This record gives sequence, structure tokens and C-alpha cells, in this order.
Amino acid sequence: MKSEFSLTFFGVRGSYPVPGKRTSRYGGNTSSLLFEIGGQPVIFDAGTGIIESGRYLNRRLRPGQVIHIFLTHLHSDHIMGMPFFAPMFNPQAEIIIHCPEIPGSSSRQALEALFLPPYSPITLQGIKARLSFHLLAAGEAADAIRLENDIQVAHVLHNSHPRLGVLIYRIAQGDRSVVYATDVESPDGFDARIGAFIAGADLLIHDSQYLDRDYFSSDDPRIGYGHSTVSMAARNAGQCGVKRLCLFHFDPRYSDPVLKGMLEQARRKFKKTILAQESRKIKLRR
Ligand SMILES: [Zn+2]
Ligand SMILES: [Zn+2]
Repeated sequence: MKSEFSLTFFGVRGSYPVPGKRTSRYGGNTSSLLFEIGGQPVIFDAGTGIIESGRYLNRRLRPGQVIHIFLTHLHSDHIMGMPFFAPMFNPQAEIIIHCPEIPGSSSRQALEALFLPPYSPITLQGIKARLSFHLLAAGEAADAIRLENDIQVAHVLHNSHPRLGVLIYRIAQGDRSVVYATDVESPDGFDARIGAFIAGADLLIHDSQYLDRDYFSSDDPRIGYGHSTVSMAARNAGQCGVKRLCLFHFDPRYSDPVLKGMLEQARRKFKKTILAQESRKIKLRR
């Protein structure tokens, strides 16, 4: 549908995949989400969630269809699904990977290594899609690029995440917009620059790795790990004036009931909060 603006979560976990009974409700795959905007697929992050997303897209692919993949950073939980992304092996597909520049290094080579020995037997000749890389300058200013269907994707660097920071993205078409802010830590709230970037979004997908009690625990605090608590996510949603908040990037040690508890905590501070859940599709209305 021309007016469709939807997103589907395919992986909602941080750090490493956790399949099994304890995580079967909200899912155990690492970070990946798929936007479908007027038929145009746009993926954010390539954790193990992208594997199922790739199967889904491969069944629907039209000749010449471009698939955009935007990466927030290159930690393994955000890229480890890439060599298993089915459209990579589909000669009909064109894939553009938008990724942050790494100062003094090559993010392209870092990603290509996933397909090369000793990590993989595939080799670059094994990739059958038309694949290209678009490097995003990890500057402090918000830059926007325009894709098919008048989709705009803007990014800004947030540097709390060790060691190279992450890109926060804002995807918009017309008056609808979603911000994807994972792997961020902001004990004192976002600064004015990031606040302005997020302001007024229909939906803010925000890192929610930790319960407050674990973040501040006396024997094993998680302060400085580059992730947020439930309270940070709820406070940032309120301060940025977004319409809805979605908690995302959960600690792999948390079972489904713990995540339910997180949601209740967040709703006490920001009522319109939901939990990211694998296979959950969210439609943004005009
Ligand atoms: Zn992560
Ligand atoms: Zn990370």
C-alpha cells in the first residue's frame, strides 16, 4: 500500500542471542527492525533478527528492488546476522549498507570480513546481490538522506557508547517519524542537540537494557556500559515530547516476566509506553 508506514521487530535483544522458553514471548534474537514504507524496505541493524527478516523480504522481492540497511554501530549484536541475510544471495536484490565511518579504519572491510575466512566460507564472490556501501560521517550535526518514496533518514552521533559511539536515526515520511536510539546511556538526560533531533517523533525506540536496580547494584553496577535504564528511557521520552515510547535492546539475562515488569515501571513515568516484541508489527497512521 502506498500510504503504509509500518515497522516490524525481528530482534529486540542486546549483547547476544538468547533462544529458549524464558524468552519465547518477546524473543531472543539480537537487534534488527524492518520498516516498510509505501512498499520500500528499510532495515535498521543486522543482529540475528535480520535472518528472519531476510527470509520474509526474499519472498516478496521485486526485480531491482533496493533494500537499505542502516547500522548504528558495528558491535557484534548489531551485525552478526549479516552473512545469513537471504537477499545477499539473491541476484535480483540490490542492497545498500549505510554504516558509520570508523576513524582510521574501514567499516566496509570490517563488514566484508564477516563473509571471509576464517569467519565464514562464503567469500565475497558468494554474494550474489548487488551490494554497495554508503559511509555516514559520524559528525555531531544531524544529516539527512533521501530514499525512494520520499523517505528521509537522518542521523546524529551520540558518543556515550564505548568506544566509538552510535548513530541515532530518525526515519520520516511526510509528517510521520520514528527515532531509533539504541545503545545509548544518558544519566543526566540527552543534551539539547540530541533532544532537538528526537523532539516530537511519533515513536521513540529507546535502549532499555537494564532495570534501575541492576544498573545501580552495589556488587555489579552497570554504570558506564553505554546502556540505559527503564527510567532513563521514560524520562527521555517525556523530555523530548514524543508521542509514544518503545522499550528495546533488553539484557539477555532478563526473562519475559522481567520485561513485563520493566513495562509497568516505565508506564508509571511515561504512560504511552510499549515493549518491543519479535514479530510485532506497528503501523503508524497519518
Ligand atoms: Zn547492542
Ligand atoms: Zn553496542
